Amino acid sequence: MTKRLALDYLVSPMARANHENNEIYIHDLDAYYVGSHNCLSIPFDDLLANGFNTRQTDVRPAGSVNTAFQLVAVIFQLQSLQQFGGVSATHLDWTMVPYVRKSFWKHFKDGVKYCQNDKLMSLAGVYEPFEHIEEGIDARKEANTPIDDEWASNNKIAYEYAMDMTEKEIHQAVEGMYHNLNTLQSRSGNQLPFTSINYGTCTLPEGRMVTKALLEVSIEGLGKLHKTSIFPCGIFQCMKGVNREPGDPNYDLYQLALASTAKRLYPNYANVDWTGNAGYDRNDPKTYFSTMGCRTSNGADINAEPGTNTQTKDGRGNICPVTIILPTLAMEVKDSLDAAYPDVDNSETSRIEIFMDVLDKKIHEAKDMLIERFNWICSQNPESAKFMYENHTMLGYHPEEGIRSALKHGTLVIGQLGLAECLQILVGCDHTQPKGMELAKRIEQLFKDRCAEFKKAEHLNFGVYYTPAENLCYTALKKFRDKYGIIENVSDKDFFTNSMHVPVWRNMSPFDKIDIESQLTGYSNAGCITYVELDASVIHNTKALEQIVNYAMDKDIPYFAINVPSDTCLDCGFQGEINDECPMCHSKNIQQLRRVTGYLTGNYKTAFNLGKQDEVHHRVKHVGVRTK
Ligand SMILES: [Zn+2]
Repeated sequence: MTKRLALDYLVSPMARANHENNEIYIHDLDAYYVGSHNCLSIPFDDLLANGFNTRQTDVRPAGSVNTAFQLVAVIFQLQSLQQFGGVSATHLDWTMVPYVRKSFWKHFKDGVKYCQNDKLMSLAGVYEPFEHIEEGIDARKEANTPIDDEWASNNKIAYEYAMDMTEKEIHQAVEGMYHNLNTLQSRSGNQLPFTSINYGTCTLPEGRMVTKALLEVSIEGLGKLHKTSIFPCGIFQCMKGVNREPGDPNYDLYQLALASTAKRLYPNYANVDWTGNAGYDRNDPKTYFSTMGCRTSNGADINAEPGTNTQTKDGRGNICPVTIILPTLAMEVKDSLDAAYPDVDNSETSRIEIFMDVLDKKIHEAKDMLIERFNWICSQNPESAKFMYENHTMLGYHPEEGIRSALKHGTLVIGQLGLAECLQILVGCDHTQPKGMELAKRIEQLFKDRCAEFKKAEHLNFGVYYTPAENLCYTALKKFRDKYGIIENVSDKDFFTNSMHVPVWRNMSPFDKIDIESQLTGYSNAGCITYVELDASVIHNTKALEQIVNYAMDKDIPYFAINVPSDTCLDCGFQGEINDECPMCHSKNIQQLRRVTGYLTGNYKTAFNLGKQDEVHHRVKHVGVRTK
């Protein structure tokens, strides 16, 4: 209903024609009319430190790590009601450091009282005067004193007690957050909020405890049957000198992450050293490369406020996307040439040149479509997203300047679908062949150049986006096939290939797949993902897994994920690769996890559309060693 309303009354005739002709797709049309934006990386550091307001009440700053984790779940929930897409935490381990300290000092006080009979040894080796003890501990708590404090550790019994209790509290707090994020409903009660958490780079003892707990809870799974949790999407941030190599301070946590991935598919891996995030500040984790689970990410902000690093991720998000359906454009060009010159075998060269012109025109139209929607979103009343503007979850809002002052820091992204099929139409092969790759690079360069030009000219953050397209891969294909019929390697399956991915049915090693896709990931600054399909053998071989993740990071892939079979029998709890029935109890009540866009889906046979189901059937495992 609201979709039709938007198409009939809100968008320009150009935008409507592009959408209806299957050329440029307008995402989330049902949210168009209400004027909400897409997604947001939430500035949790500020919200937890300062508290926030809701319709009902004001919420005080977090006083312990347990409260902090529960507030994260609450804020995720509240923010996702203000928008139509996902929410993320960009550096959750760092965010939690002050609250781990608060909890530690509380437990230390108890330790002194109950385990040391209210006696506390000073650094000088004498007992502190009784009246100094409480004061001294409270002062350290107030001062955000690190937990590796000499004064405290001098009191072995109380210190060990406090460390144990803090670790237990973090573990329970993380369990609570996982539980909440898998049960709280959002978006009018019909869907869980799409939540993602990035972590893994904090080398302080407090942050390391948080990362460890996040991974342990992920490995344990949820509930009686230890099911893999669908939310949050965990993203481990790989960083040279921090966690990549033996001897790095967080290398042990990287190993734990790999163990979790082998069993639970999460975490995925973000590459802090990615060259596309150049200019970030090594001393400010808010600027480290982080991403939404689906792949959407924030590139440099052309409107960054003075003194703010342009790569700051917090308080920013994607405002809206459109996606250019490349196979449609390629087919239109081919058809019109065939019709105009029916007797000649149209040369590939002219086909390519005409296609590049058409694509250029469509990229410009995509920009205009995004500006249309951006202006519409900017015209909304701040009351319509009260929680967001009142609490500055989207940063940069100056009431006297209107909500555009906040929205201008977000990204406007031009996505794409079906590069592989487009190349097939134009040159008879996809980019697994050198000829296809040559044209692929030319196409991506055009996207990149134009977005950079638009960014400068419009002073808005335009970016190249390798679209998730969970439903679009199917609906766009159906429309295409209705018009052009079945064409081999183009429309003979029930889906178009995601963005610039290698078609899922191509046999190759994981290393070869990374080699191909890594040649194109550098053109995108607003989100891309590369994933490989592995067989169940990696569950017992995390060294092999590590080799593959390292290879992807070294090839400058920004965001990398691994698919392994991870099915759970919902009657007896058996886990592994299950086809139709459980090998243990023969139940057919199976949770079959598959990755859609970057996120996992609980049971793909009911949750996926037909196109995505067909894509899952065509996915081949990437096995073997390098072939070149
Ligand atoms: Zn079973």
